[in-house]
Amino acid sequence: MKSFVHRGQITKVVFGSGTRSRVPAEADALGCRRVLILCTPGHVSRAAEMSELLGGAAAGTFPEAAAHTPVEVTERAVAYARAVGADSVLAMGGGSTVGLGKAIALRTGLPQLALPTTYAGSEMTPILGETEGGRKTTRRLPEVQLRTVVYDVDLTLSLPTTVSVVSGINAMAHAVESLYAQDQDPVAFLMAGEALDALTRALPVVAQRPDDAEARADALYGAWLAGTCLGTVGMALHHKVCHVLGGAFGLPHAETHAVVLPHVVAYNGPAAPEAMARIAQALPGTDAATGLFDFAGRLGAPTALRDLGMPESGVAQAAELVAQDAYWNPRPVDPGAVRALLTRAWAGEGPVTSSGSELSRVGSFIEHSTTTGVHHA
Ligand code: NAD
Repeated sequence: MKSFVHRGQITKVVFGSGTRSRVPAEADALGCRRVLILCTPGHVSRAAEMSELLGGAAAGTFPEAAAHTPVEVTERAVAYARAVGADSVLAMGGGSTVGLGKAIALRTGLPQLALPTTYAGSEMTPILGETEGGRKTTRRLPEVQLRTVVYDVDLTLSLPTTVSVVSGINAMAHAVESLYAQDQDPVAFLMAGEALDALTRALPVVAQRPDDAEARADALYGAWLAGTCLGTVGMALHHKVCHVLGGAFGLPHAETHAVVLPHVVAYNGPAAPEAMARIAQALPGTDAATGLFDFAGRLGAPTALRDLGMPESGVAQAAELVAQDAYWNPRPVDPGAVRALLTRAWAGEGPVTSSGSELSRVGSFIEHSTTTGVHHA
């Protein structure tokens, strides 16, 4: 018998095509009468369309959402929210815009709604990453969980193919790490597997025909499930590595996930056989890590950290940073192992799945390890 704890979600989810027309009713159901719309500078026209739909319930638009949620942007947004008397926020965009909504909610207590336009999944999590003075910190805060998420597939049709692919693989990374999470539960396992099935089915079609509404719906469905997993169970080595690479070298978020994932899966494979079997079910092939590497390659995703602007000299530094304050991981983490996998990821080489004998050798290290269990995105 397996014991487990499952944390249910409080977020209401509306999913479909044309569902943005339901945002005024959803806002009204939450008692929101002055909705502040958030977006990135490139999405002002979409925000204007939403403002028109909201009519008298639109309090204004703040179009300055930026990557990694800089605190100075949040402070300007909070001042604007107060100036226009906003009683709620509506994030229209990807993870950066949703992050701004959460940061505002943390400081003001305003309820949040979102219309996600990428596959990042942040809208389903209580996780907030913020940047101040060049340093990004990530926290789990129940008070930043969104109240209502309206997925409108139509809004994702314009997501460029290259962004769609890496954003989709970013979602797959949430699902993969949920399969072997420390606090894994059967519901999260089911959702993660279903997310992988949907995303591996949809992304090749999206890469060929970005306007295929069915494939877009499948991808968004997978991204929702993967985001829910991310919000439900703790992440491990893969997310820690990507967090370090983004923070220390400014590497782009989704692209970094796409490069690193097969290598961490290869490393964790011997310690997480059930997860590997589920990944291989979604991506039949020689093994889970190779399946992920080949899948990303077929879709034209980046495969080398050096192509994302990482200096070779950064590999050793990143390995130290990862091992210094490691998240819980199914397989113990030491700087040498991380350096080895990052060296391959830096050069764009395929993943190397370690043998069981290597695992038992590293396994003996665990008894002396002081790594701590932390849950982060
Ligand atoms: P993003 O929100 O920065 O969007 C990427 C770019 O795509 C932006 O320029 C945006 O304007 C554009 N874009 C978005 N949707 C579009 C559409 N439909 N059509 C055309 N262009 C579109 O990127 P992202 O990958 O969605 O999010 C990354 C950020 O989210 C990172 O800061 C990451 O840390 C954070 N994140 C947080 C969590 C969490 O749970 N807290 C989860 C995942 C990601």
